Amino acid sequence: MELKINNKCDRCNEQTAIVLPYGPHNLCKKHFIELFEKRIKKTTAKEGMLKYGEKIAVGVSGGKDSMVTLHMLNELFGKTKHNKIIAIMIDEGIKGYRDKAIEIAKKYCEENNIEHEIIKFEKEIGIDMHKTMEKIKKDKSLGSTCSFCGVFRRKILNEKAAEIGADKLATGHNLDDEVQSIIMSITDNDLTRIARSGETTGQRKNQKLVPRIKPLYETPEKEIIAYANMKGIEYYRQECCPYSWMAKRNYYRQMLNELENNFPGTKFKILEAHKQLKPLLKKMEMEKGANFKECTICGEPCNGEICGTCKQLKKLNKTKNQKIYKTTETKKETLSCCQTKFSN
Ligand code: SF4
Ligand SMILES: [Zn+2]
Ligand SMILES: [Zn+2]
Repeated sequence: MELKINNKCDRCNEQTAIVLPYGPHNLCKKHFIELFEKRIKKTTAKEGMLKYGEKIAVGVSGGKDSMVTLHMLNELFGKTKHNKIIAIMIDEGIKGYRDKAIEIAKKYCEENNIEHEIIKFEKEIGIDMHKTMEKIKKDKSLGSTCSFCGVFRRKILNEKAAEIGADKLATGHNLDDEVQSIIMSITDNDLTRIARSGETTGQRKNQKLVPRIKPLYETPEKEIIAYANMKGIEYYRQECCPYSWMAKRNYYRQMLNELENNFPGTKFKILEAHKQLKPLLKKMEMEKGANFKECTICGEPCNGEICGTCKQLKKLNKTKNQKIYKTTETKKETLSCCQTKFSN
């Protein structure tokens, strides 16, 4: 499709503020904001995503995606007395990065009267990302920092959301994240992960598992940045996470951005293909009898015998010449922090 860049908005006589190549749309600020918010309202109105009277926990990092998610949910649901919004901020212990981002998120919550909590990796699971990185440096076979950070964060967010009695846990995953995950699952030949991913994940059959929702999953990353800037929503925009260079996801991001530049609309098409494939893959999963179990170490819901966090913590504790990291004292020195925490 040929991209026509006009100086005037397609919908009025105002000056174009943004060009959306997949449209193609030339939109002024007002009409872009309208399109952006309408899309998110439509996404959140989808069956089961958000309901009247629900308590919504929002995982907030201080980055653009989670700040826009928090802003939108607060605008749509937080200002009524029927729904309650609580922001959960996770401090992984990445100094000079997350602490700065959390400050921004905290300020936003205070200014907008949003209840919020800050949870530290170190306190919850007994190790922060700085110490994890030190271990990885000594033993490269442990894998990337993100493979630890991601599972730890997921676990803590779910635990906290369950603890505060949230009905849903909203995260800032956007279209780009979603599409990267789909393609990564395909190249990993992990059909189970594809079957379980999507705008709403998790099931309430297990009381410990809070269903996750992704209000921005149909929204491109570039538009989130544009919206935040146009609306004056502050977010952390300085250096990237110092450990992000190890993320496998970066390769996929680059490849998909290149595809999108050459063939606008590719990301939406991949998401659409996923929506159509998902019911089939889910059926296949059900036929295999795959279901949530409880981790034999910590009791958290998981797919196998041991949850991702316990697996990762075990790996860290097995590293040569390293002591077990934990904040609470225990005599069981050979146990992982997770075992310790849940066996007390
Ligand atoms: S880039 Fe990786 S290490 Fe850094 S915050 Fe994200 S998941 Fe954690
Ligand atoms: Zn306009
Ligand atoms: Zn576990």
